[in-house]
Order: sequence, then structure tokens, then C-alpha cells
Amino acid sequence: AQKVKHCISTYLLVRSTKHGVHRGMSSVTIPPPACMLRPLEVPFRYLFGPGPSNVPPRILAAGGRPIIGHMHSEMFGIMNDIKKGIQYAFQTSNNMTLAMSGSGHTAMECAVFNIVEPGESVLVAINGIWGERVAEIAERMGAKVHTLFKTPGGHFTNAEIEQALAKHKPVLFFLTHGESSAGLVHPMDGVGDICHKYNCLLLVDSVASLGAAPLLMDQQNIDILYTGSQKALNAPPGTAPVSFSERACHKMFNRKTKPVSYLLDMTHLSNYWGNDGKPERIYHHTGPVSGFFALRESLAILAEMGLENSWSHHTEIAEYLWKGLEDLGLKLFIKDKDLRLPSVTTIAIPEGYDWKELLAYIMKHHRIEFTGGLGPSVGMVLRIGLMGYNCNKANAAMALAALEDALKQCRKSKA
Ligand code: PMP
Repeated sequence: AQKVKHCISTYLLVRSTKHGVHRGMSSVTIPPPACMLRPLEVPFRYLFGPGPSNVPPRILAAGGRPIIGHMHSEMFGIMNDIKKGIQYAFQTSNNMTLAMSGSGHTAMECAVFNIVEPGESVLVAINGIWGERVAEIAERMGAKVHTLFKTPGGHFTNAEIEQALAKHKPVLFFLTHGESSAGLVHPMDGVGDICHKYNCLLLVDSVASLGAAPLLMDQQNIDILYTGSQKALNAPPGTAPVSFSERACHKMFNRKTKPVSYLLDMTHLSNYWGNDGKPERIYHHTGPVSGFFALRESLAILAEMGLENSWSHHTEIAEYLWKGLEDLGLKLFIKDKDLRLPSVTTIAIPEGYDWKELLAYIMKHHRIEFTGGLGPSVGMVLRIGLMGYNCNKANAAMALAALEDALKQCRKSKA
């Protein structure tokens, strides 16, 4: 009681200064915003676009567990589990495996910033937006950027890749496995071997394909592989698994210059993830504790299901969707079935329709998100994503029914 009395009298003393203002502080001039005094409202949406996808209750619940410290031993245990889960999902035994605190772009920048030094040559395969992004990231950090180019939907033969490697002698070659802006899954066999023949490291983006289409990091000789949490893994956005081969580690830990980013410097991140063999972990940044809980759960679900089952399940549902779309008279953007990304299907925009109107109608009347193209594929395609938890026949049927309804309601011309 004595303590409370003391607190109250101190408070009154402070309040009763000359102008009735807190001591050492001016009065606020910006009032609490009205929106902040209203409760949070989040609508329910069927997220059948290219991501994020809906998060199952089990993963949401994992993310809602009480926070622990990011440097607590139990947290390090959970991070070790995540590392094992990523090694399984990537099919790698790389020690340098971890999750970035950030979205897929964070892993993309981490890979480029750590592997490449200013002035070094980089080769980027551009067949959609993701190659464009990596080329820009590499250019910003001072690399000499060379590109291999195809319009969205195109892919590169091993002979084309080899020719460019021989010509440009890059230290790094970037290829997107699941090109979500075009709906293409890129053939990977032999690419790693060609890169190694030219003493070049292979960096692969699997943000949209991991868990949906076969990818074997070690067997396919991929040096750096990254993905995102919010696609087939079904965790909330904000964490990004990444792994580096020994060859990649050799390059990035023997550089002459420091990487441009402190936050993404792998010398620090490898210590934070207990990958550098040092007995002590030193504070670098505060990792997204809840995001890591959710990521662990999503990797556990993938491990329980089994990678091969997950791949075949995505293919089966995608084939059901593709057939349904063709039955509606629509044209799939990627003609060759084997090159279609099972997680994100691209449809050529049907003639006589405004694609924005179709999407808006479907969102308004069916609460379903589909999207248009992205970057170079804008105006070319509509995209439907059924990934992980969302990937089932009932959802595919719902997506088809919504599209059928929109095609009836939004017709502009008889073209
Ligand atoms: N690569 C691919 C293939 C993607 O589909 C995406 C996300 N759409 C990204 C990279 C970027 O990931 P994020 O939005 O999580 O940064």
C-alpha cells in the first residue's frame, strides 16, 4: 500500500507542473487514430492465387504459441528441427541450411550478396519476373550481369545454358525452378553438372515449386537453393528456407570484400543458426520467433506426408484443374504438360474479356483470389494457385465453378 501511495503522489506531482504537462515531455498533438480504436477485421478469402495460400489451423496454432527468447536453448532446438526439415524438403545434406528472417526476396538477396563480389560476372536466366529481379539485385551490388532471355512461358535448353556459361564465365548462374509469373516448371537435369564444368555455382529459386514439383538439391548439383514459407509449405509469409553447398560456402567464406548487407551476412547468420561450428551463438538480430514456430510445423506436415506424395498429389489435382479449364473452353498458357508448374496454373486470357473484371467479379461473388500476370506476363495470363493445404479436388472444383460463373457474367464481346 505504501508503494502504491508513493507512485500515485509521484504521478500527481508530475501532472501538476505549471502547464499540466508531463515533465520533460511535450503534449501530444496527434490524437489516437480512430481506426486504431476499432477492432481488427480480416475477411475470409480463398487464396487460390500464386501465394500466400491459406494457412491450416495446425500451423496457425503453432504460430500462436507463447513467445520464447530468440536465444533460448529451446529456440535453438526448434531451429535445429527447422534445419532438418529443410534438409528433407530440399533433399540435401548441406550443413549450411537455415531459414532467413524475411520473405523469399530476402533469401534471393542473401544468396547474391554473399556469393558475388562487386565486378564479378553473373549469368541470369530471365523467362519471367524472377530472373528480372535477380538481375536487378546483382546489378545493384555491382556485379557484371549477363542475361539469357525468353518471353514468359519459354525455357532454356542445356545447350543454350552451356553456350552462355562458356561465353560469360560467370561465378553464379541463376535459374527459376517454378516460374510463378509464367506457370512454368523448368527442367533441372544436367544444369548443375554444366555449371560445375565451367566452375560456376548454380542458384535456384524454388519459392513457388517446393513441395509441388520434384527437386533434389544434392542429386541435381544445385549450389544454392531457396524457397518461401507461404506457398506449398502453407506457413504465413515471412520466413525463407535456404541452403548452401560446400562449394558455395567455400566461395562465400573466402571473399575479399564484406557483403553489402550486414543483416544478410552469412558469417553472422551461420553462427545464429549454429552452422559455423563455434561453441557460442552471438546475438545478430532477433529472429521471427512465431514465424519459426509456424515454419517448423509446416515442415513437419511435409515430412509426415512425404515429399513424393506431396509432388504426386499436386500433379493429380493440377491435372484435374487443367482438364476442367479446357472443358470450359479456356487455353492453358503452357502448352507442354510436362513444363506446367503444378502449383500455379496459367491460363491465356480469353478473348472478349477484361481480365481485371473477371478477377474482381470472382473476388466479389465467390471470395476467391485468382490473380493476373506479374511483370512481363501482365495482360497475358490469369493465374490459379492450389498449393499444399489448398490443393484438393473440392477447391479445384470451386475454382472452376467460380470461373465458369465469371465467364458467363463478364463477357464483353463475341470476339
Ligand atoms: N520467387 C518466386 C518463384 C515467387 O513466386 C515469389 C513470390 N511470388 C518470389 C520469388 C518472391 O517471394 P516473396 O514474395 O516471399 O519475397
